Amino acid sequence: MNKSSPGLTNNLILTAGPFIDYREVDYAADAALHGWNHHHSDYLRKFENLFMDYIGVEHGFATSSCTGALHLALKAKGIGAGDEVLVPETTWIATAAAVVYTGATPVFCDVEADSWVMDSSQLEKYITSKTKAIIPVHLYGQPVVMEPIWELAEKHGLFILEDAAPSIGTIYKGRKTGNLGHAAAFSFQGAKAVVTGEGGFLLTDDEDLKKKAWFYNDHCRDPERTLFNIDIGYKYKISNLQAAIGLAQMEKIEQIVAQKRQIFSWYQERLGDIEELALNIEKPETRNIYWMSSIVLGDQIKYGRDEFISKLKERMIDSRPMFHPISSFPMFDNADNPVAYKVPMRGINLPSGHERREEEIDYICAHIRDLLGHGLGKCASSQPQGYLAFRDKVLQQIQDWKTNSDLAIKLKSGSLRLVTAESLNNDSDIELLAKWREANQDAFPSQFKVTQQGTKTWLENSVLNSPDRILFWVCDQDNKKIGHAGLFRFDLSQKFCELDNILRGESGSPGIMQEACSKLIELCQQELGLADIYLRVFSDNQRALELYQKLGMKEIQRAPLRKVEEDGVSKWIEVIKSPYEKIERYFLTYKL
Ligand SMILES: *Cc1c(COP(=O)(O)O)cnc(C)c1O
Repeated sequence: MNKSSPGLTNNLILTAGPFIDYREVDYAADAALHGWNHHHSDYLRKFENLFMDYIGVEHGFATSSCTGALHLALKAKGIGAGDEVLVPETTWIATAAAVVYTGATPVFCDVEADSWVMDSSQLEKYITSKTKAIIPVHLYGQPVVMEPIWELAEKHGLFILEDAAPSIGTIYKGRKTGNLGHAAAFSFQGAKAVVTGEGGFLLTDDEDLKKKAWFYNDHCRDPERTLFNIDIGYKYKISNLQAAIGLAQMEKIEQIVAQKRQIFSWYQERLGDIEELALNIEKPETRNIYWMSSIVLGDQIKYGRDEFISKLKERMIDSRPMFHPISSFPMFDNADNPVAYKVPMRGINLPSGHERREEEIDYICAHIRDLLGHGLGKCASSQPQGYLAFRDKVLQQIQDWKTNSDLAIKLKSGSLRLVTAESLNNDSDIELLAKWREANQDAFPSQFKVTQQGTKTWLENSVLNSPDRILFWVCDQDNKKIGHAGLFRFDLSQKFCELDNILRGESGSPGIMQEACSKLIELCQQELGLADIYLRVFSDNQRALELYQKLGMKEIQRAPLRKVEEDGVSKWIEVIKSPYEKIERYFLTYKL
């Protein structure tokens, strides 16, 4: 599968990103094809059972979000106007919002300076006669210390609702988070460790609470009378389709957790020696899943948090600030929680998505060390030939080529000449392109309207303004434009690119397209240092197939296709999991 990567196609190294492979695609396709009527909740049931088994809790159901699950749990517990609920200052707004939905008041509690989660040793001071519940949040996968919470709950009869949104797989003294209170909520939103697109889960060992929560989630239907509702409820349901993806995710949950921990350990190895940086911690008898590997900038560091974030961005590294204290938002009154008002305001979540590889972490840490004036530390060894140097070199070379409007590469029987922005205002160039594209309409993987205007838009948006695409005219000995060919979709971590837009428009100069392609391959290998060259072609494009075989390219994969018409444009889409469908053509991947 084509992994997303910090290649030029999306060259910012991103903060989050899930672990998706063919299992998710298969289950989702199967759910889309068959998951209706009698099968409308097959995946949902499997997903729910597997999830509850994994956490070790008896009752619960999947929801459309963690926010919804929190709301339902509070509602089912009867929490409402006049009640107070303790929530940490440092969390996503959802924790507090769910309390406000019920009419109750969130009371913001300070956090621990080293773990950034609710400081449970200080909770007693926030408790009043109105306090009804505590919501510990296992922020970034770090479990809250539970003993003081258990004691307070016992002493004051409080409801413990874990906001375990970002902590699937976190362990506290032998028990998973989600199994540490009276009820718990999880999130499967797209940036979390386990994703369903959007989604959540409500868990509890209290069967009665689950029944009440479900009653509210089902618009308060009267169990005795069909379609008769006895109160105003809610609907935070998730679909079987999303659950199909969730099931695939949960079947490999330990792999997901292991990767999160691996990513953090790469950061730890490379940044752990820097005294003025604090990283996530892991307390004894716990397993932190490090949903977000993070740093807090010490006071000695001259940069402000947002300044540091923008310095990282200049170096193509995405990051996110830790959470603002919730009580600092305009809807609330500022609370006196000094740690939460200070530490997270110096805190940054680093790229922690599942697909991050060690060489990227190396690159990121090299830049963090550099910004802090710390030498390269453990990052040094892979610096010169590493990812950073390679990426810069390729970027620069493409840029140099693209800005050199006289660029001409000699061929035996003609030349390759750069397609530049000048062509946008050159009617005869646009006419040529439109004419060629129209004649070859059916041979192109993605279709677009081949009017002159459409051709112009394509040229401007998809070619000229795309940093990872470069297109050349193939010209004969008299400089007559015969066709075009280019390079596309550079993947710098795996060192490949695609041969792209190989299109012959005019006759004459036999063998010139093959020569043009050979030359481009040579550029990729010798000038850019890319290891692999791919291309994609329709199975019935005989002329092109012959050409590619002559270049030494081999078929490595074929995807069955079906034709669909959209706005008068025909597109070919991949057919998944439909054994009886008639396949009209294939999309072949060729590799050199
Ligand atoms: C993500 C997150 C939520 C919200 O989850 P949704 O599914 O988007 O509602 C709540 N609390 C915390 C701590 C989170 O990280």
